[in-house]
Amino acid sequence: MQVMIIGKISDNEKKIKFDANIHCTNCGKQVPGGIKAGEQYSKTNEFKIEFEEFLKKYLCGICRDKKRLGKTKN
Ligand SMILES: [Zn+2]
Repeated sequence: MQVMIIGKISDNEKKIKFDANIHCTNCGKQVPGGIKAGEQYSKTNEFKIEFEEFLKKYLCGICRDKKRLGKTKN
């Protein structure tokens, strides 16, 4: 279970959790989890955009490691 935090959350701010179907964009594996954002930020357009971008770019741990290893070889 992974919960990603989008944007900045101040310590005293209420956090909103969104359940999301997160899929690795490389291998297609579904990752159970969700998104957390501060209450104020979650109402903004910026948040929606960032959330969509996040889903488009998401890599699971395995693919992220592969990518990182690939980069060190270059
Ligand atoms: Zn993957």
